[in-house]
Amino acid sequence: MEKEIIIIGGGIGGLTLARALQLKRIDFQLYEQAKSFEALGYGLQISPNVVRVFQQLGLDKELEAISHRCYGFQLKSFDSDREIASWQLNQTIPYYQCRRADLHQLLYDSIEDKSRIHFCQRLTDYHQEEESLYFSLENDPQKYSAKALIGADGVRSHLRKSLFPNYEAKYSGYFAFRAILPFSEKYRPLWGKATVWMGKNHHVVAYPNENKQIGKCWLNLVLVVREKNWQEEGWAITADKQEIWQRFGNKSPLLDEILQDLGKTEETCYKWGLFTHQPLPYWSKGKVTLLGDAAHPMLPFQAQGAGMAIEDAYVLANCLSLETKIETALFKYQQLRQERATKVQQTSRKNADIFHATGISAIARDIALGLAVTVNSNLINLKTAWIYDYDVTNLGYISKKT
Ligand SMILES: Cc1cc2nc3c(=O)[nH]c(=O)nc-3n(C[C@H](O)[C@H](O)[C@H](O)COP(=O)(O)OP(=O)(O)OC[C@H]3O[C@@H](n4cnc5c(N)ncnc54)[C@H](O)[C@@H]3O)c2cc1C
Repeated sequence: MEKEIIIIGGGIGGLTLARALQLKRIDFQLYEQAKSFEALGYGLQISPNVVRVFQQLGLDKELEAISHRCYGFQLKSFDSDREIASWQLNQTIPYYQCRRADLHQLLYDSIEDKSRIHFCQRLTDYHQEEESLYFSLENDPQKYSAKALIGADGVRSHLRKSLFPNYEAKYSGYFAFRAILPFSEKYRPLWGKATVWMGKNHHVVAYPNENKQIGKCWLNLVLVVREKNWQEEGWAITADKQEIWQRFGNKSPLLDEILQDLGKTEETCYKWGLFTHQPLPYWSKGKVTLLGDAAHPMLPFQAQGAGMAIEDAYVLANCLSLETKIETALFKYQQLRQERATKVQQTSRKNADIFHATGISAIARDIALGLAVTVNSNLINLKTAWIYDYDVTNLGYISKKT
């Protein structure tokens, strides 16, 4: 087989890389272990830093068509439903909320040559020497050669394990229920916003998911619990709606109404152990590198895991098109991405403490947030500007060399 860029994993990060390489006319093959793409319907928030990448990939109109537009945030107390703070987002570039399955499909549809995407193909091994790089797949005795091997294989990355045997992702002390249900008029107070109920050992994030292409709208819920141990087999399992009610019911009247509606729907809910590990010392070694959750699995409390995978993919495709030597391209990619993704990974962890604060810390948090928006409604936007206003498509290196 002719040597090409090999992408392991067809999640959001792997497919974005495939789209970006296609635009650069760089040959690739993508291997995905699953039989087909999962149609799990839960939601994702896609912030302006990520929308900028979609603009460059020529997919911003398609993204808009499958998304709900978010204009602001509101923070509420989990116990009383009292509003702690609310503010409007800066609106130069949109902030969207969509279903992961729709985003995944959009990226898949954007790949012209589908024969480059191989399902049921699981990376089992690779070997690199000075000039050569080989890899093998499960149930296939052949060894394939590659120009570069990109591990976009998620939080349980096989490639990361072989590069860093001591960096296995560990249970973070948090798990989440993920649920989605048809949007009802009763949920109007949540329209156009991301709403977070914060409380002791629990927080809930709710936002609409709207696919204008098919004229459907849902409410997406992420219900997070802080608990020391993860007892379940596996990471993402079907959840019992009764357990969700026991943990989150009888608190906020609006949330109660939503959870009662959820109980009446056919929708399956999932329970996810949230796993992460310490930041890696490096991502690229010779002709092999990591991307997305494989490089920096993060808690979802800044809603940036997929966002960082998308930014990574954009930068990596540019590095591969600008540098002639693969090793230089992968090193440059790491230089451009590692500091930012690590900072977002660490900020997501800090947000866990803010959302789940108790006692005096919770009182101090509520006063500080309330004051911040009263004194200057733009103050919180200024605090998150380093994430949302960042333009990965306009880094000096990329724009100078293009
Ligand atoms: C509760 C929750 C809420 C979230 N909310 C948001 C949000 O609002 N916004 C946001 O940006 N992010 C969010 N995230 C994070 C986001 O879902 C992930 O960060 C993102 O999906 C990571 O993409 P990825 O491509 O790196 O990995 P994945 O999407 O995990 O893809 C990895 C792929 O690799 C395949 N694979 C694995 N091993 C192999 C192998 N050996 N060979 C071949 N294929 C393999 C897998 O089957 C999979 O398809 C959330 C996460 C959770 C848990």
